[in-house]
Amino acid sequence: MATATKDYGLFIGGETVEASGDLRDVYEPATGGVLARTALANEADVDRAVAAARAALDGAWGKTPGTERSRLLHALADAIVANRKELAELESRNVGKAISSVKAEIAGAAENFRYYASAIATIAGRSASVGGSLIFYSLKEPAGVAGQIVPWNYPLMMATWKLAPALAAGCACVLKPDPQTPLSVLRVAELATEVGFPPGAINIVPGDGPTTGAYLVRHPGVDKVAFTGSTKTGGEVMRLCSDPIKRLTLELGGKSPNLLFADANLADAIPASVWAIFASAGQSCEARSRLLVEKSMYDDVVAQVTELSQRVKVGDPLDAETQMGSLISAAHREKVHGFVESARGEGAEITTGGEIDAGPGAFYPPTVIAGAGNQMLVAQEEIFGPVVTVIPFDDENDAIRIANDVKYGLMATVWTGDPGKGHRIASKIKSGTVGINMPYTAFPGIPFGGYKQSGFGRELALETLDLYLETKSVVTYTGTRPTNPFGL
Ligand code: NAD
Repeated sequence: MATATKDYGLFIGGETVEASGDLRDVYEPATGGVLARTALANEADVDRAVAAARAALDGAWGKTPGTERSRLLHALADAIVANRKELAELESRNVGKAISSVKAEIAGAAENFRYYASAIATIAGRSASVGGSLIFYSLKEPAGVAGQIVPWNYPLMMATWKLAPALAAGCACVLKPDPQTPLSVLRVAELATEVGFPPGAINIVPGDGPTTGAYLVRHPGVDKVAFTGSTKTGGEVMRLCSDPIKRLTLELGGKSPNLLFADANLADAIPASVWAIFASAGQSCEARSRLLVEKSMYDDVVAQVTELSQRVKVGDPLDAETQMGSLISAAHREKVHGFVESARGEGAEITTGGEIDAGPGAFYPPTVIAGAGNQMLVAQEEIFGPVVTVIPFDDENDAIRIANDVKYGLMATVWTGDPGKGHRIASKIKSGTVGINMPYTAFPGIPFGGYKQSGFGRELALETLDLYLETKSVVTYTGTRPTNPFGL
C-alpha cells in the first residue's frame, strides 16, 4: 500500500490554517505506516476557533435563515456523496476499518445532513393565551457556540451526528476530533466552505483530550457541549461543564446485550448476532458484546457462533471482500487482549480467537468467550474490540435481569418468534434502543442514545435539535395588566 504523507492543518474561519504547535503523525493501523500528519490545536488555536464561531453567529451565519441553512446542508450532503470514494478510502485507511462498512458510514453521514436539512422546518415556538389578558409566544433561538468532541471509532459519522443538528439549529460549531482520526472531517469542513457555508460556522480543532478537549469544554465562549466517548471521560467532561455551567449532552459507552430465545428464527438470528459484535471489529458503542442464550440451546449456539466467527473475513481494509479490518492501534489491541486474558484467568473458555496475530498491523481475531457469567469483567466492562461473551439464561425474566445487570444502557437486541414477547421484553429493558429481530441500530430520524451510564440526550432525531436551541418566552397582555404586587 502506498503511503501519502500529506500535512493537515486546523480548520478555522472557513479555511485551513496552520497550528501554533506541532504536527503529529497519523497512522494507518492495518499496516503500522504513517498516513499523514495533522496539526494539533493548542489553547490559542481553540481561542481562535471559538472567536471565529462567535463572529459567524454575530455575522453572516447568524443572519442565515432556515431555508438557506437547509439548502447548505443539502449541498454539503451532495458534496459528501460526490467525494465519497476519496472519503471512504481515507477513513478506511485511517481507522483500519473494512471499506464496505466505511462506505455505508459515508452514505449515512450524507443522509444525516439531509435529514436535518428537512428537520429545520420543524423548528418553531408556540403561542398561547394562558388566562386573563396574559399571552405569550416562545422563540427558538440557537444555543450559540457548540463545542463538540468525538472519538475515533466512526470519525466522520460521529462528527456529522453532531454538526448536522447544530448547524440546522443555527449554532456555530467548534469540533474536536480524536487526534488519531481527524482527516475525514477536516476534508468535509473544506467541502462545507466550497458549497457556501460562511466562515466560522464550522471549525475543526484536532488535539488531545485532556488538553485541547478539556480547554474547549471549559472555554467561556462555548455555550453548549456535546460529547461522544467513554463513560469515564464523559464524567470528567460533566465535571468541567459545572463551572461555568454549560448545556451538555453525553453519548457514552455500552455493554449491550443480544437476547437469543429458543423460539427465534435461529438461521437469521445467529449470523446477525455475529455481525452485531464483529462489525467495526467490535469498536462500536452499540456492539452487542454480551450474547445471552436460552440455556437449552447454549452449547449448540456456542458451536455455531464459533464456527461463523472463524468465517469472518479479516484482512486488508481496502479489499472489498474484507468484513473486519484491524483495530485502531497496537496499544488498543493490548487492552482488548488483556480483557480476554482476564476471562481465561477466571476460568472461561475461549472457543475461537484470543491470540494476537503475528505480522504487521493491529489485527485481532474474532473472539468468542463461553462458559462465562455476567459478573465477569468481560461481561461488565466495555472491551471495545471483537470479543463476544456468551452467557446462558433460564427464562424470560432471567434474560431481562441479566440484560439490565450492567451499568450501561445503550442498545439491546431481542430475537424471538413471539411478537408479544418481543414487545414485552423491549418495555423492560433499560436501554435507549431495543431491536426486535433487528440488529441494525442507527438511522436518521430514530433517536439514539443512552440510559444509565451510557449518557443522556439523543442523537439522529428531531429532539436532538432542541439540545442546540434555547426556548425564550415573550410575555405580554392584551387588556389590563395584572396588578403590581407592590401596589405602587
Ligand atoms: P475517549 O473518552 O477516550 O475519547 C473520546 C474523545 O474525548 C476524544 O476526542 C478524546 O480526545 C476526548 N477526550 C479525552 N479526554 C478528554 C477530556 N478530559 N476532556 C475533553 N475531551 C477529552 O473515548 P474513545 O476511546 O476515543 O472512544 C470510545 C468510546 O466512545 C467508547 O466508550 C464508545 O462506546 C464511545 N462511543 C459512544 C457512542 C454513542 O453514541 N454512545 C458512539 C461512539 C463511541
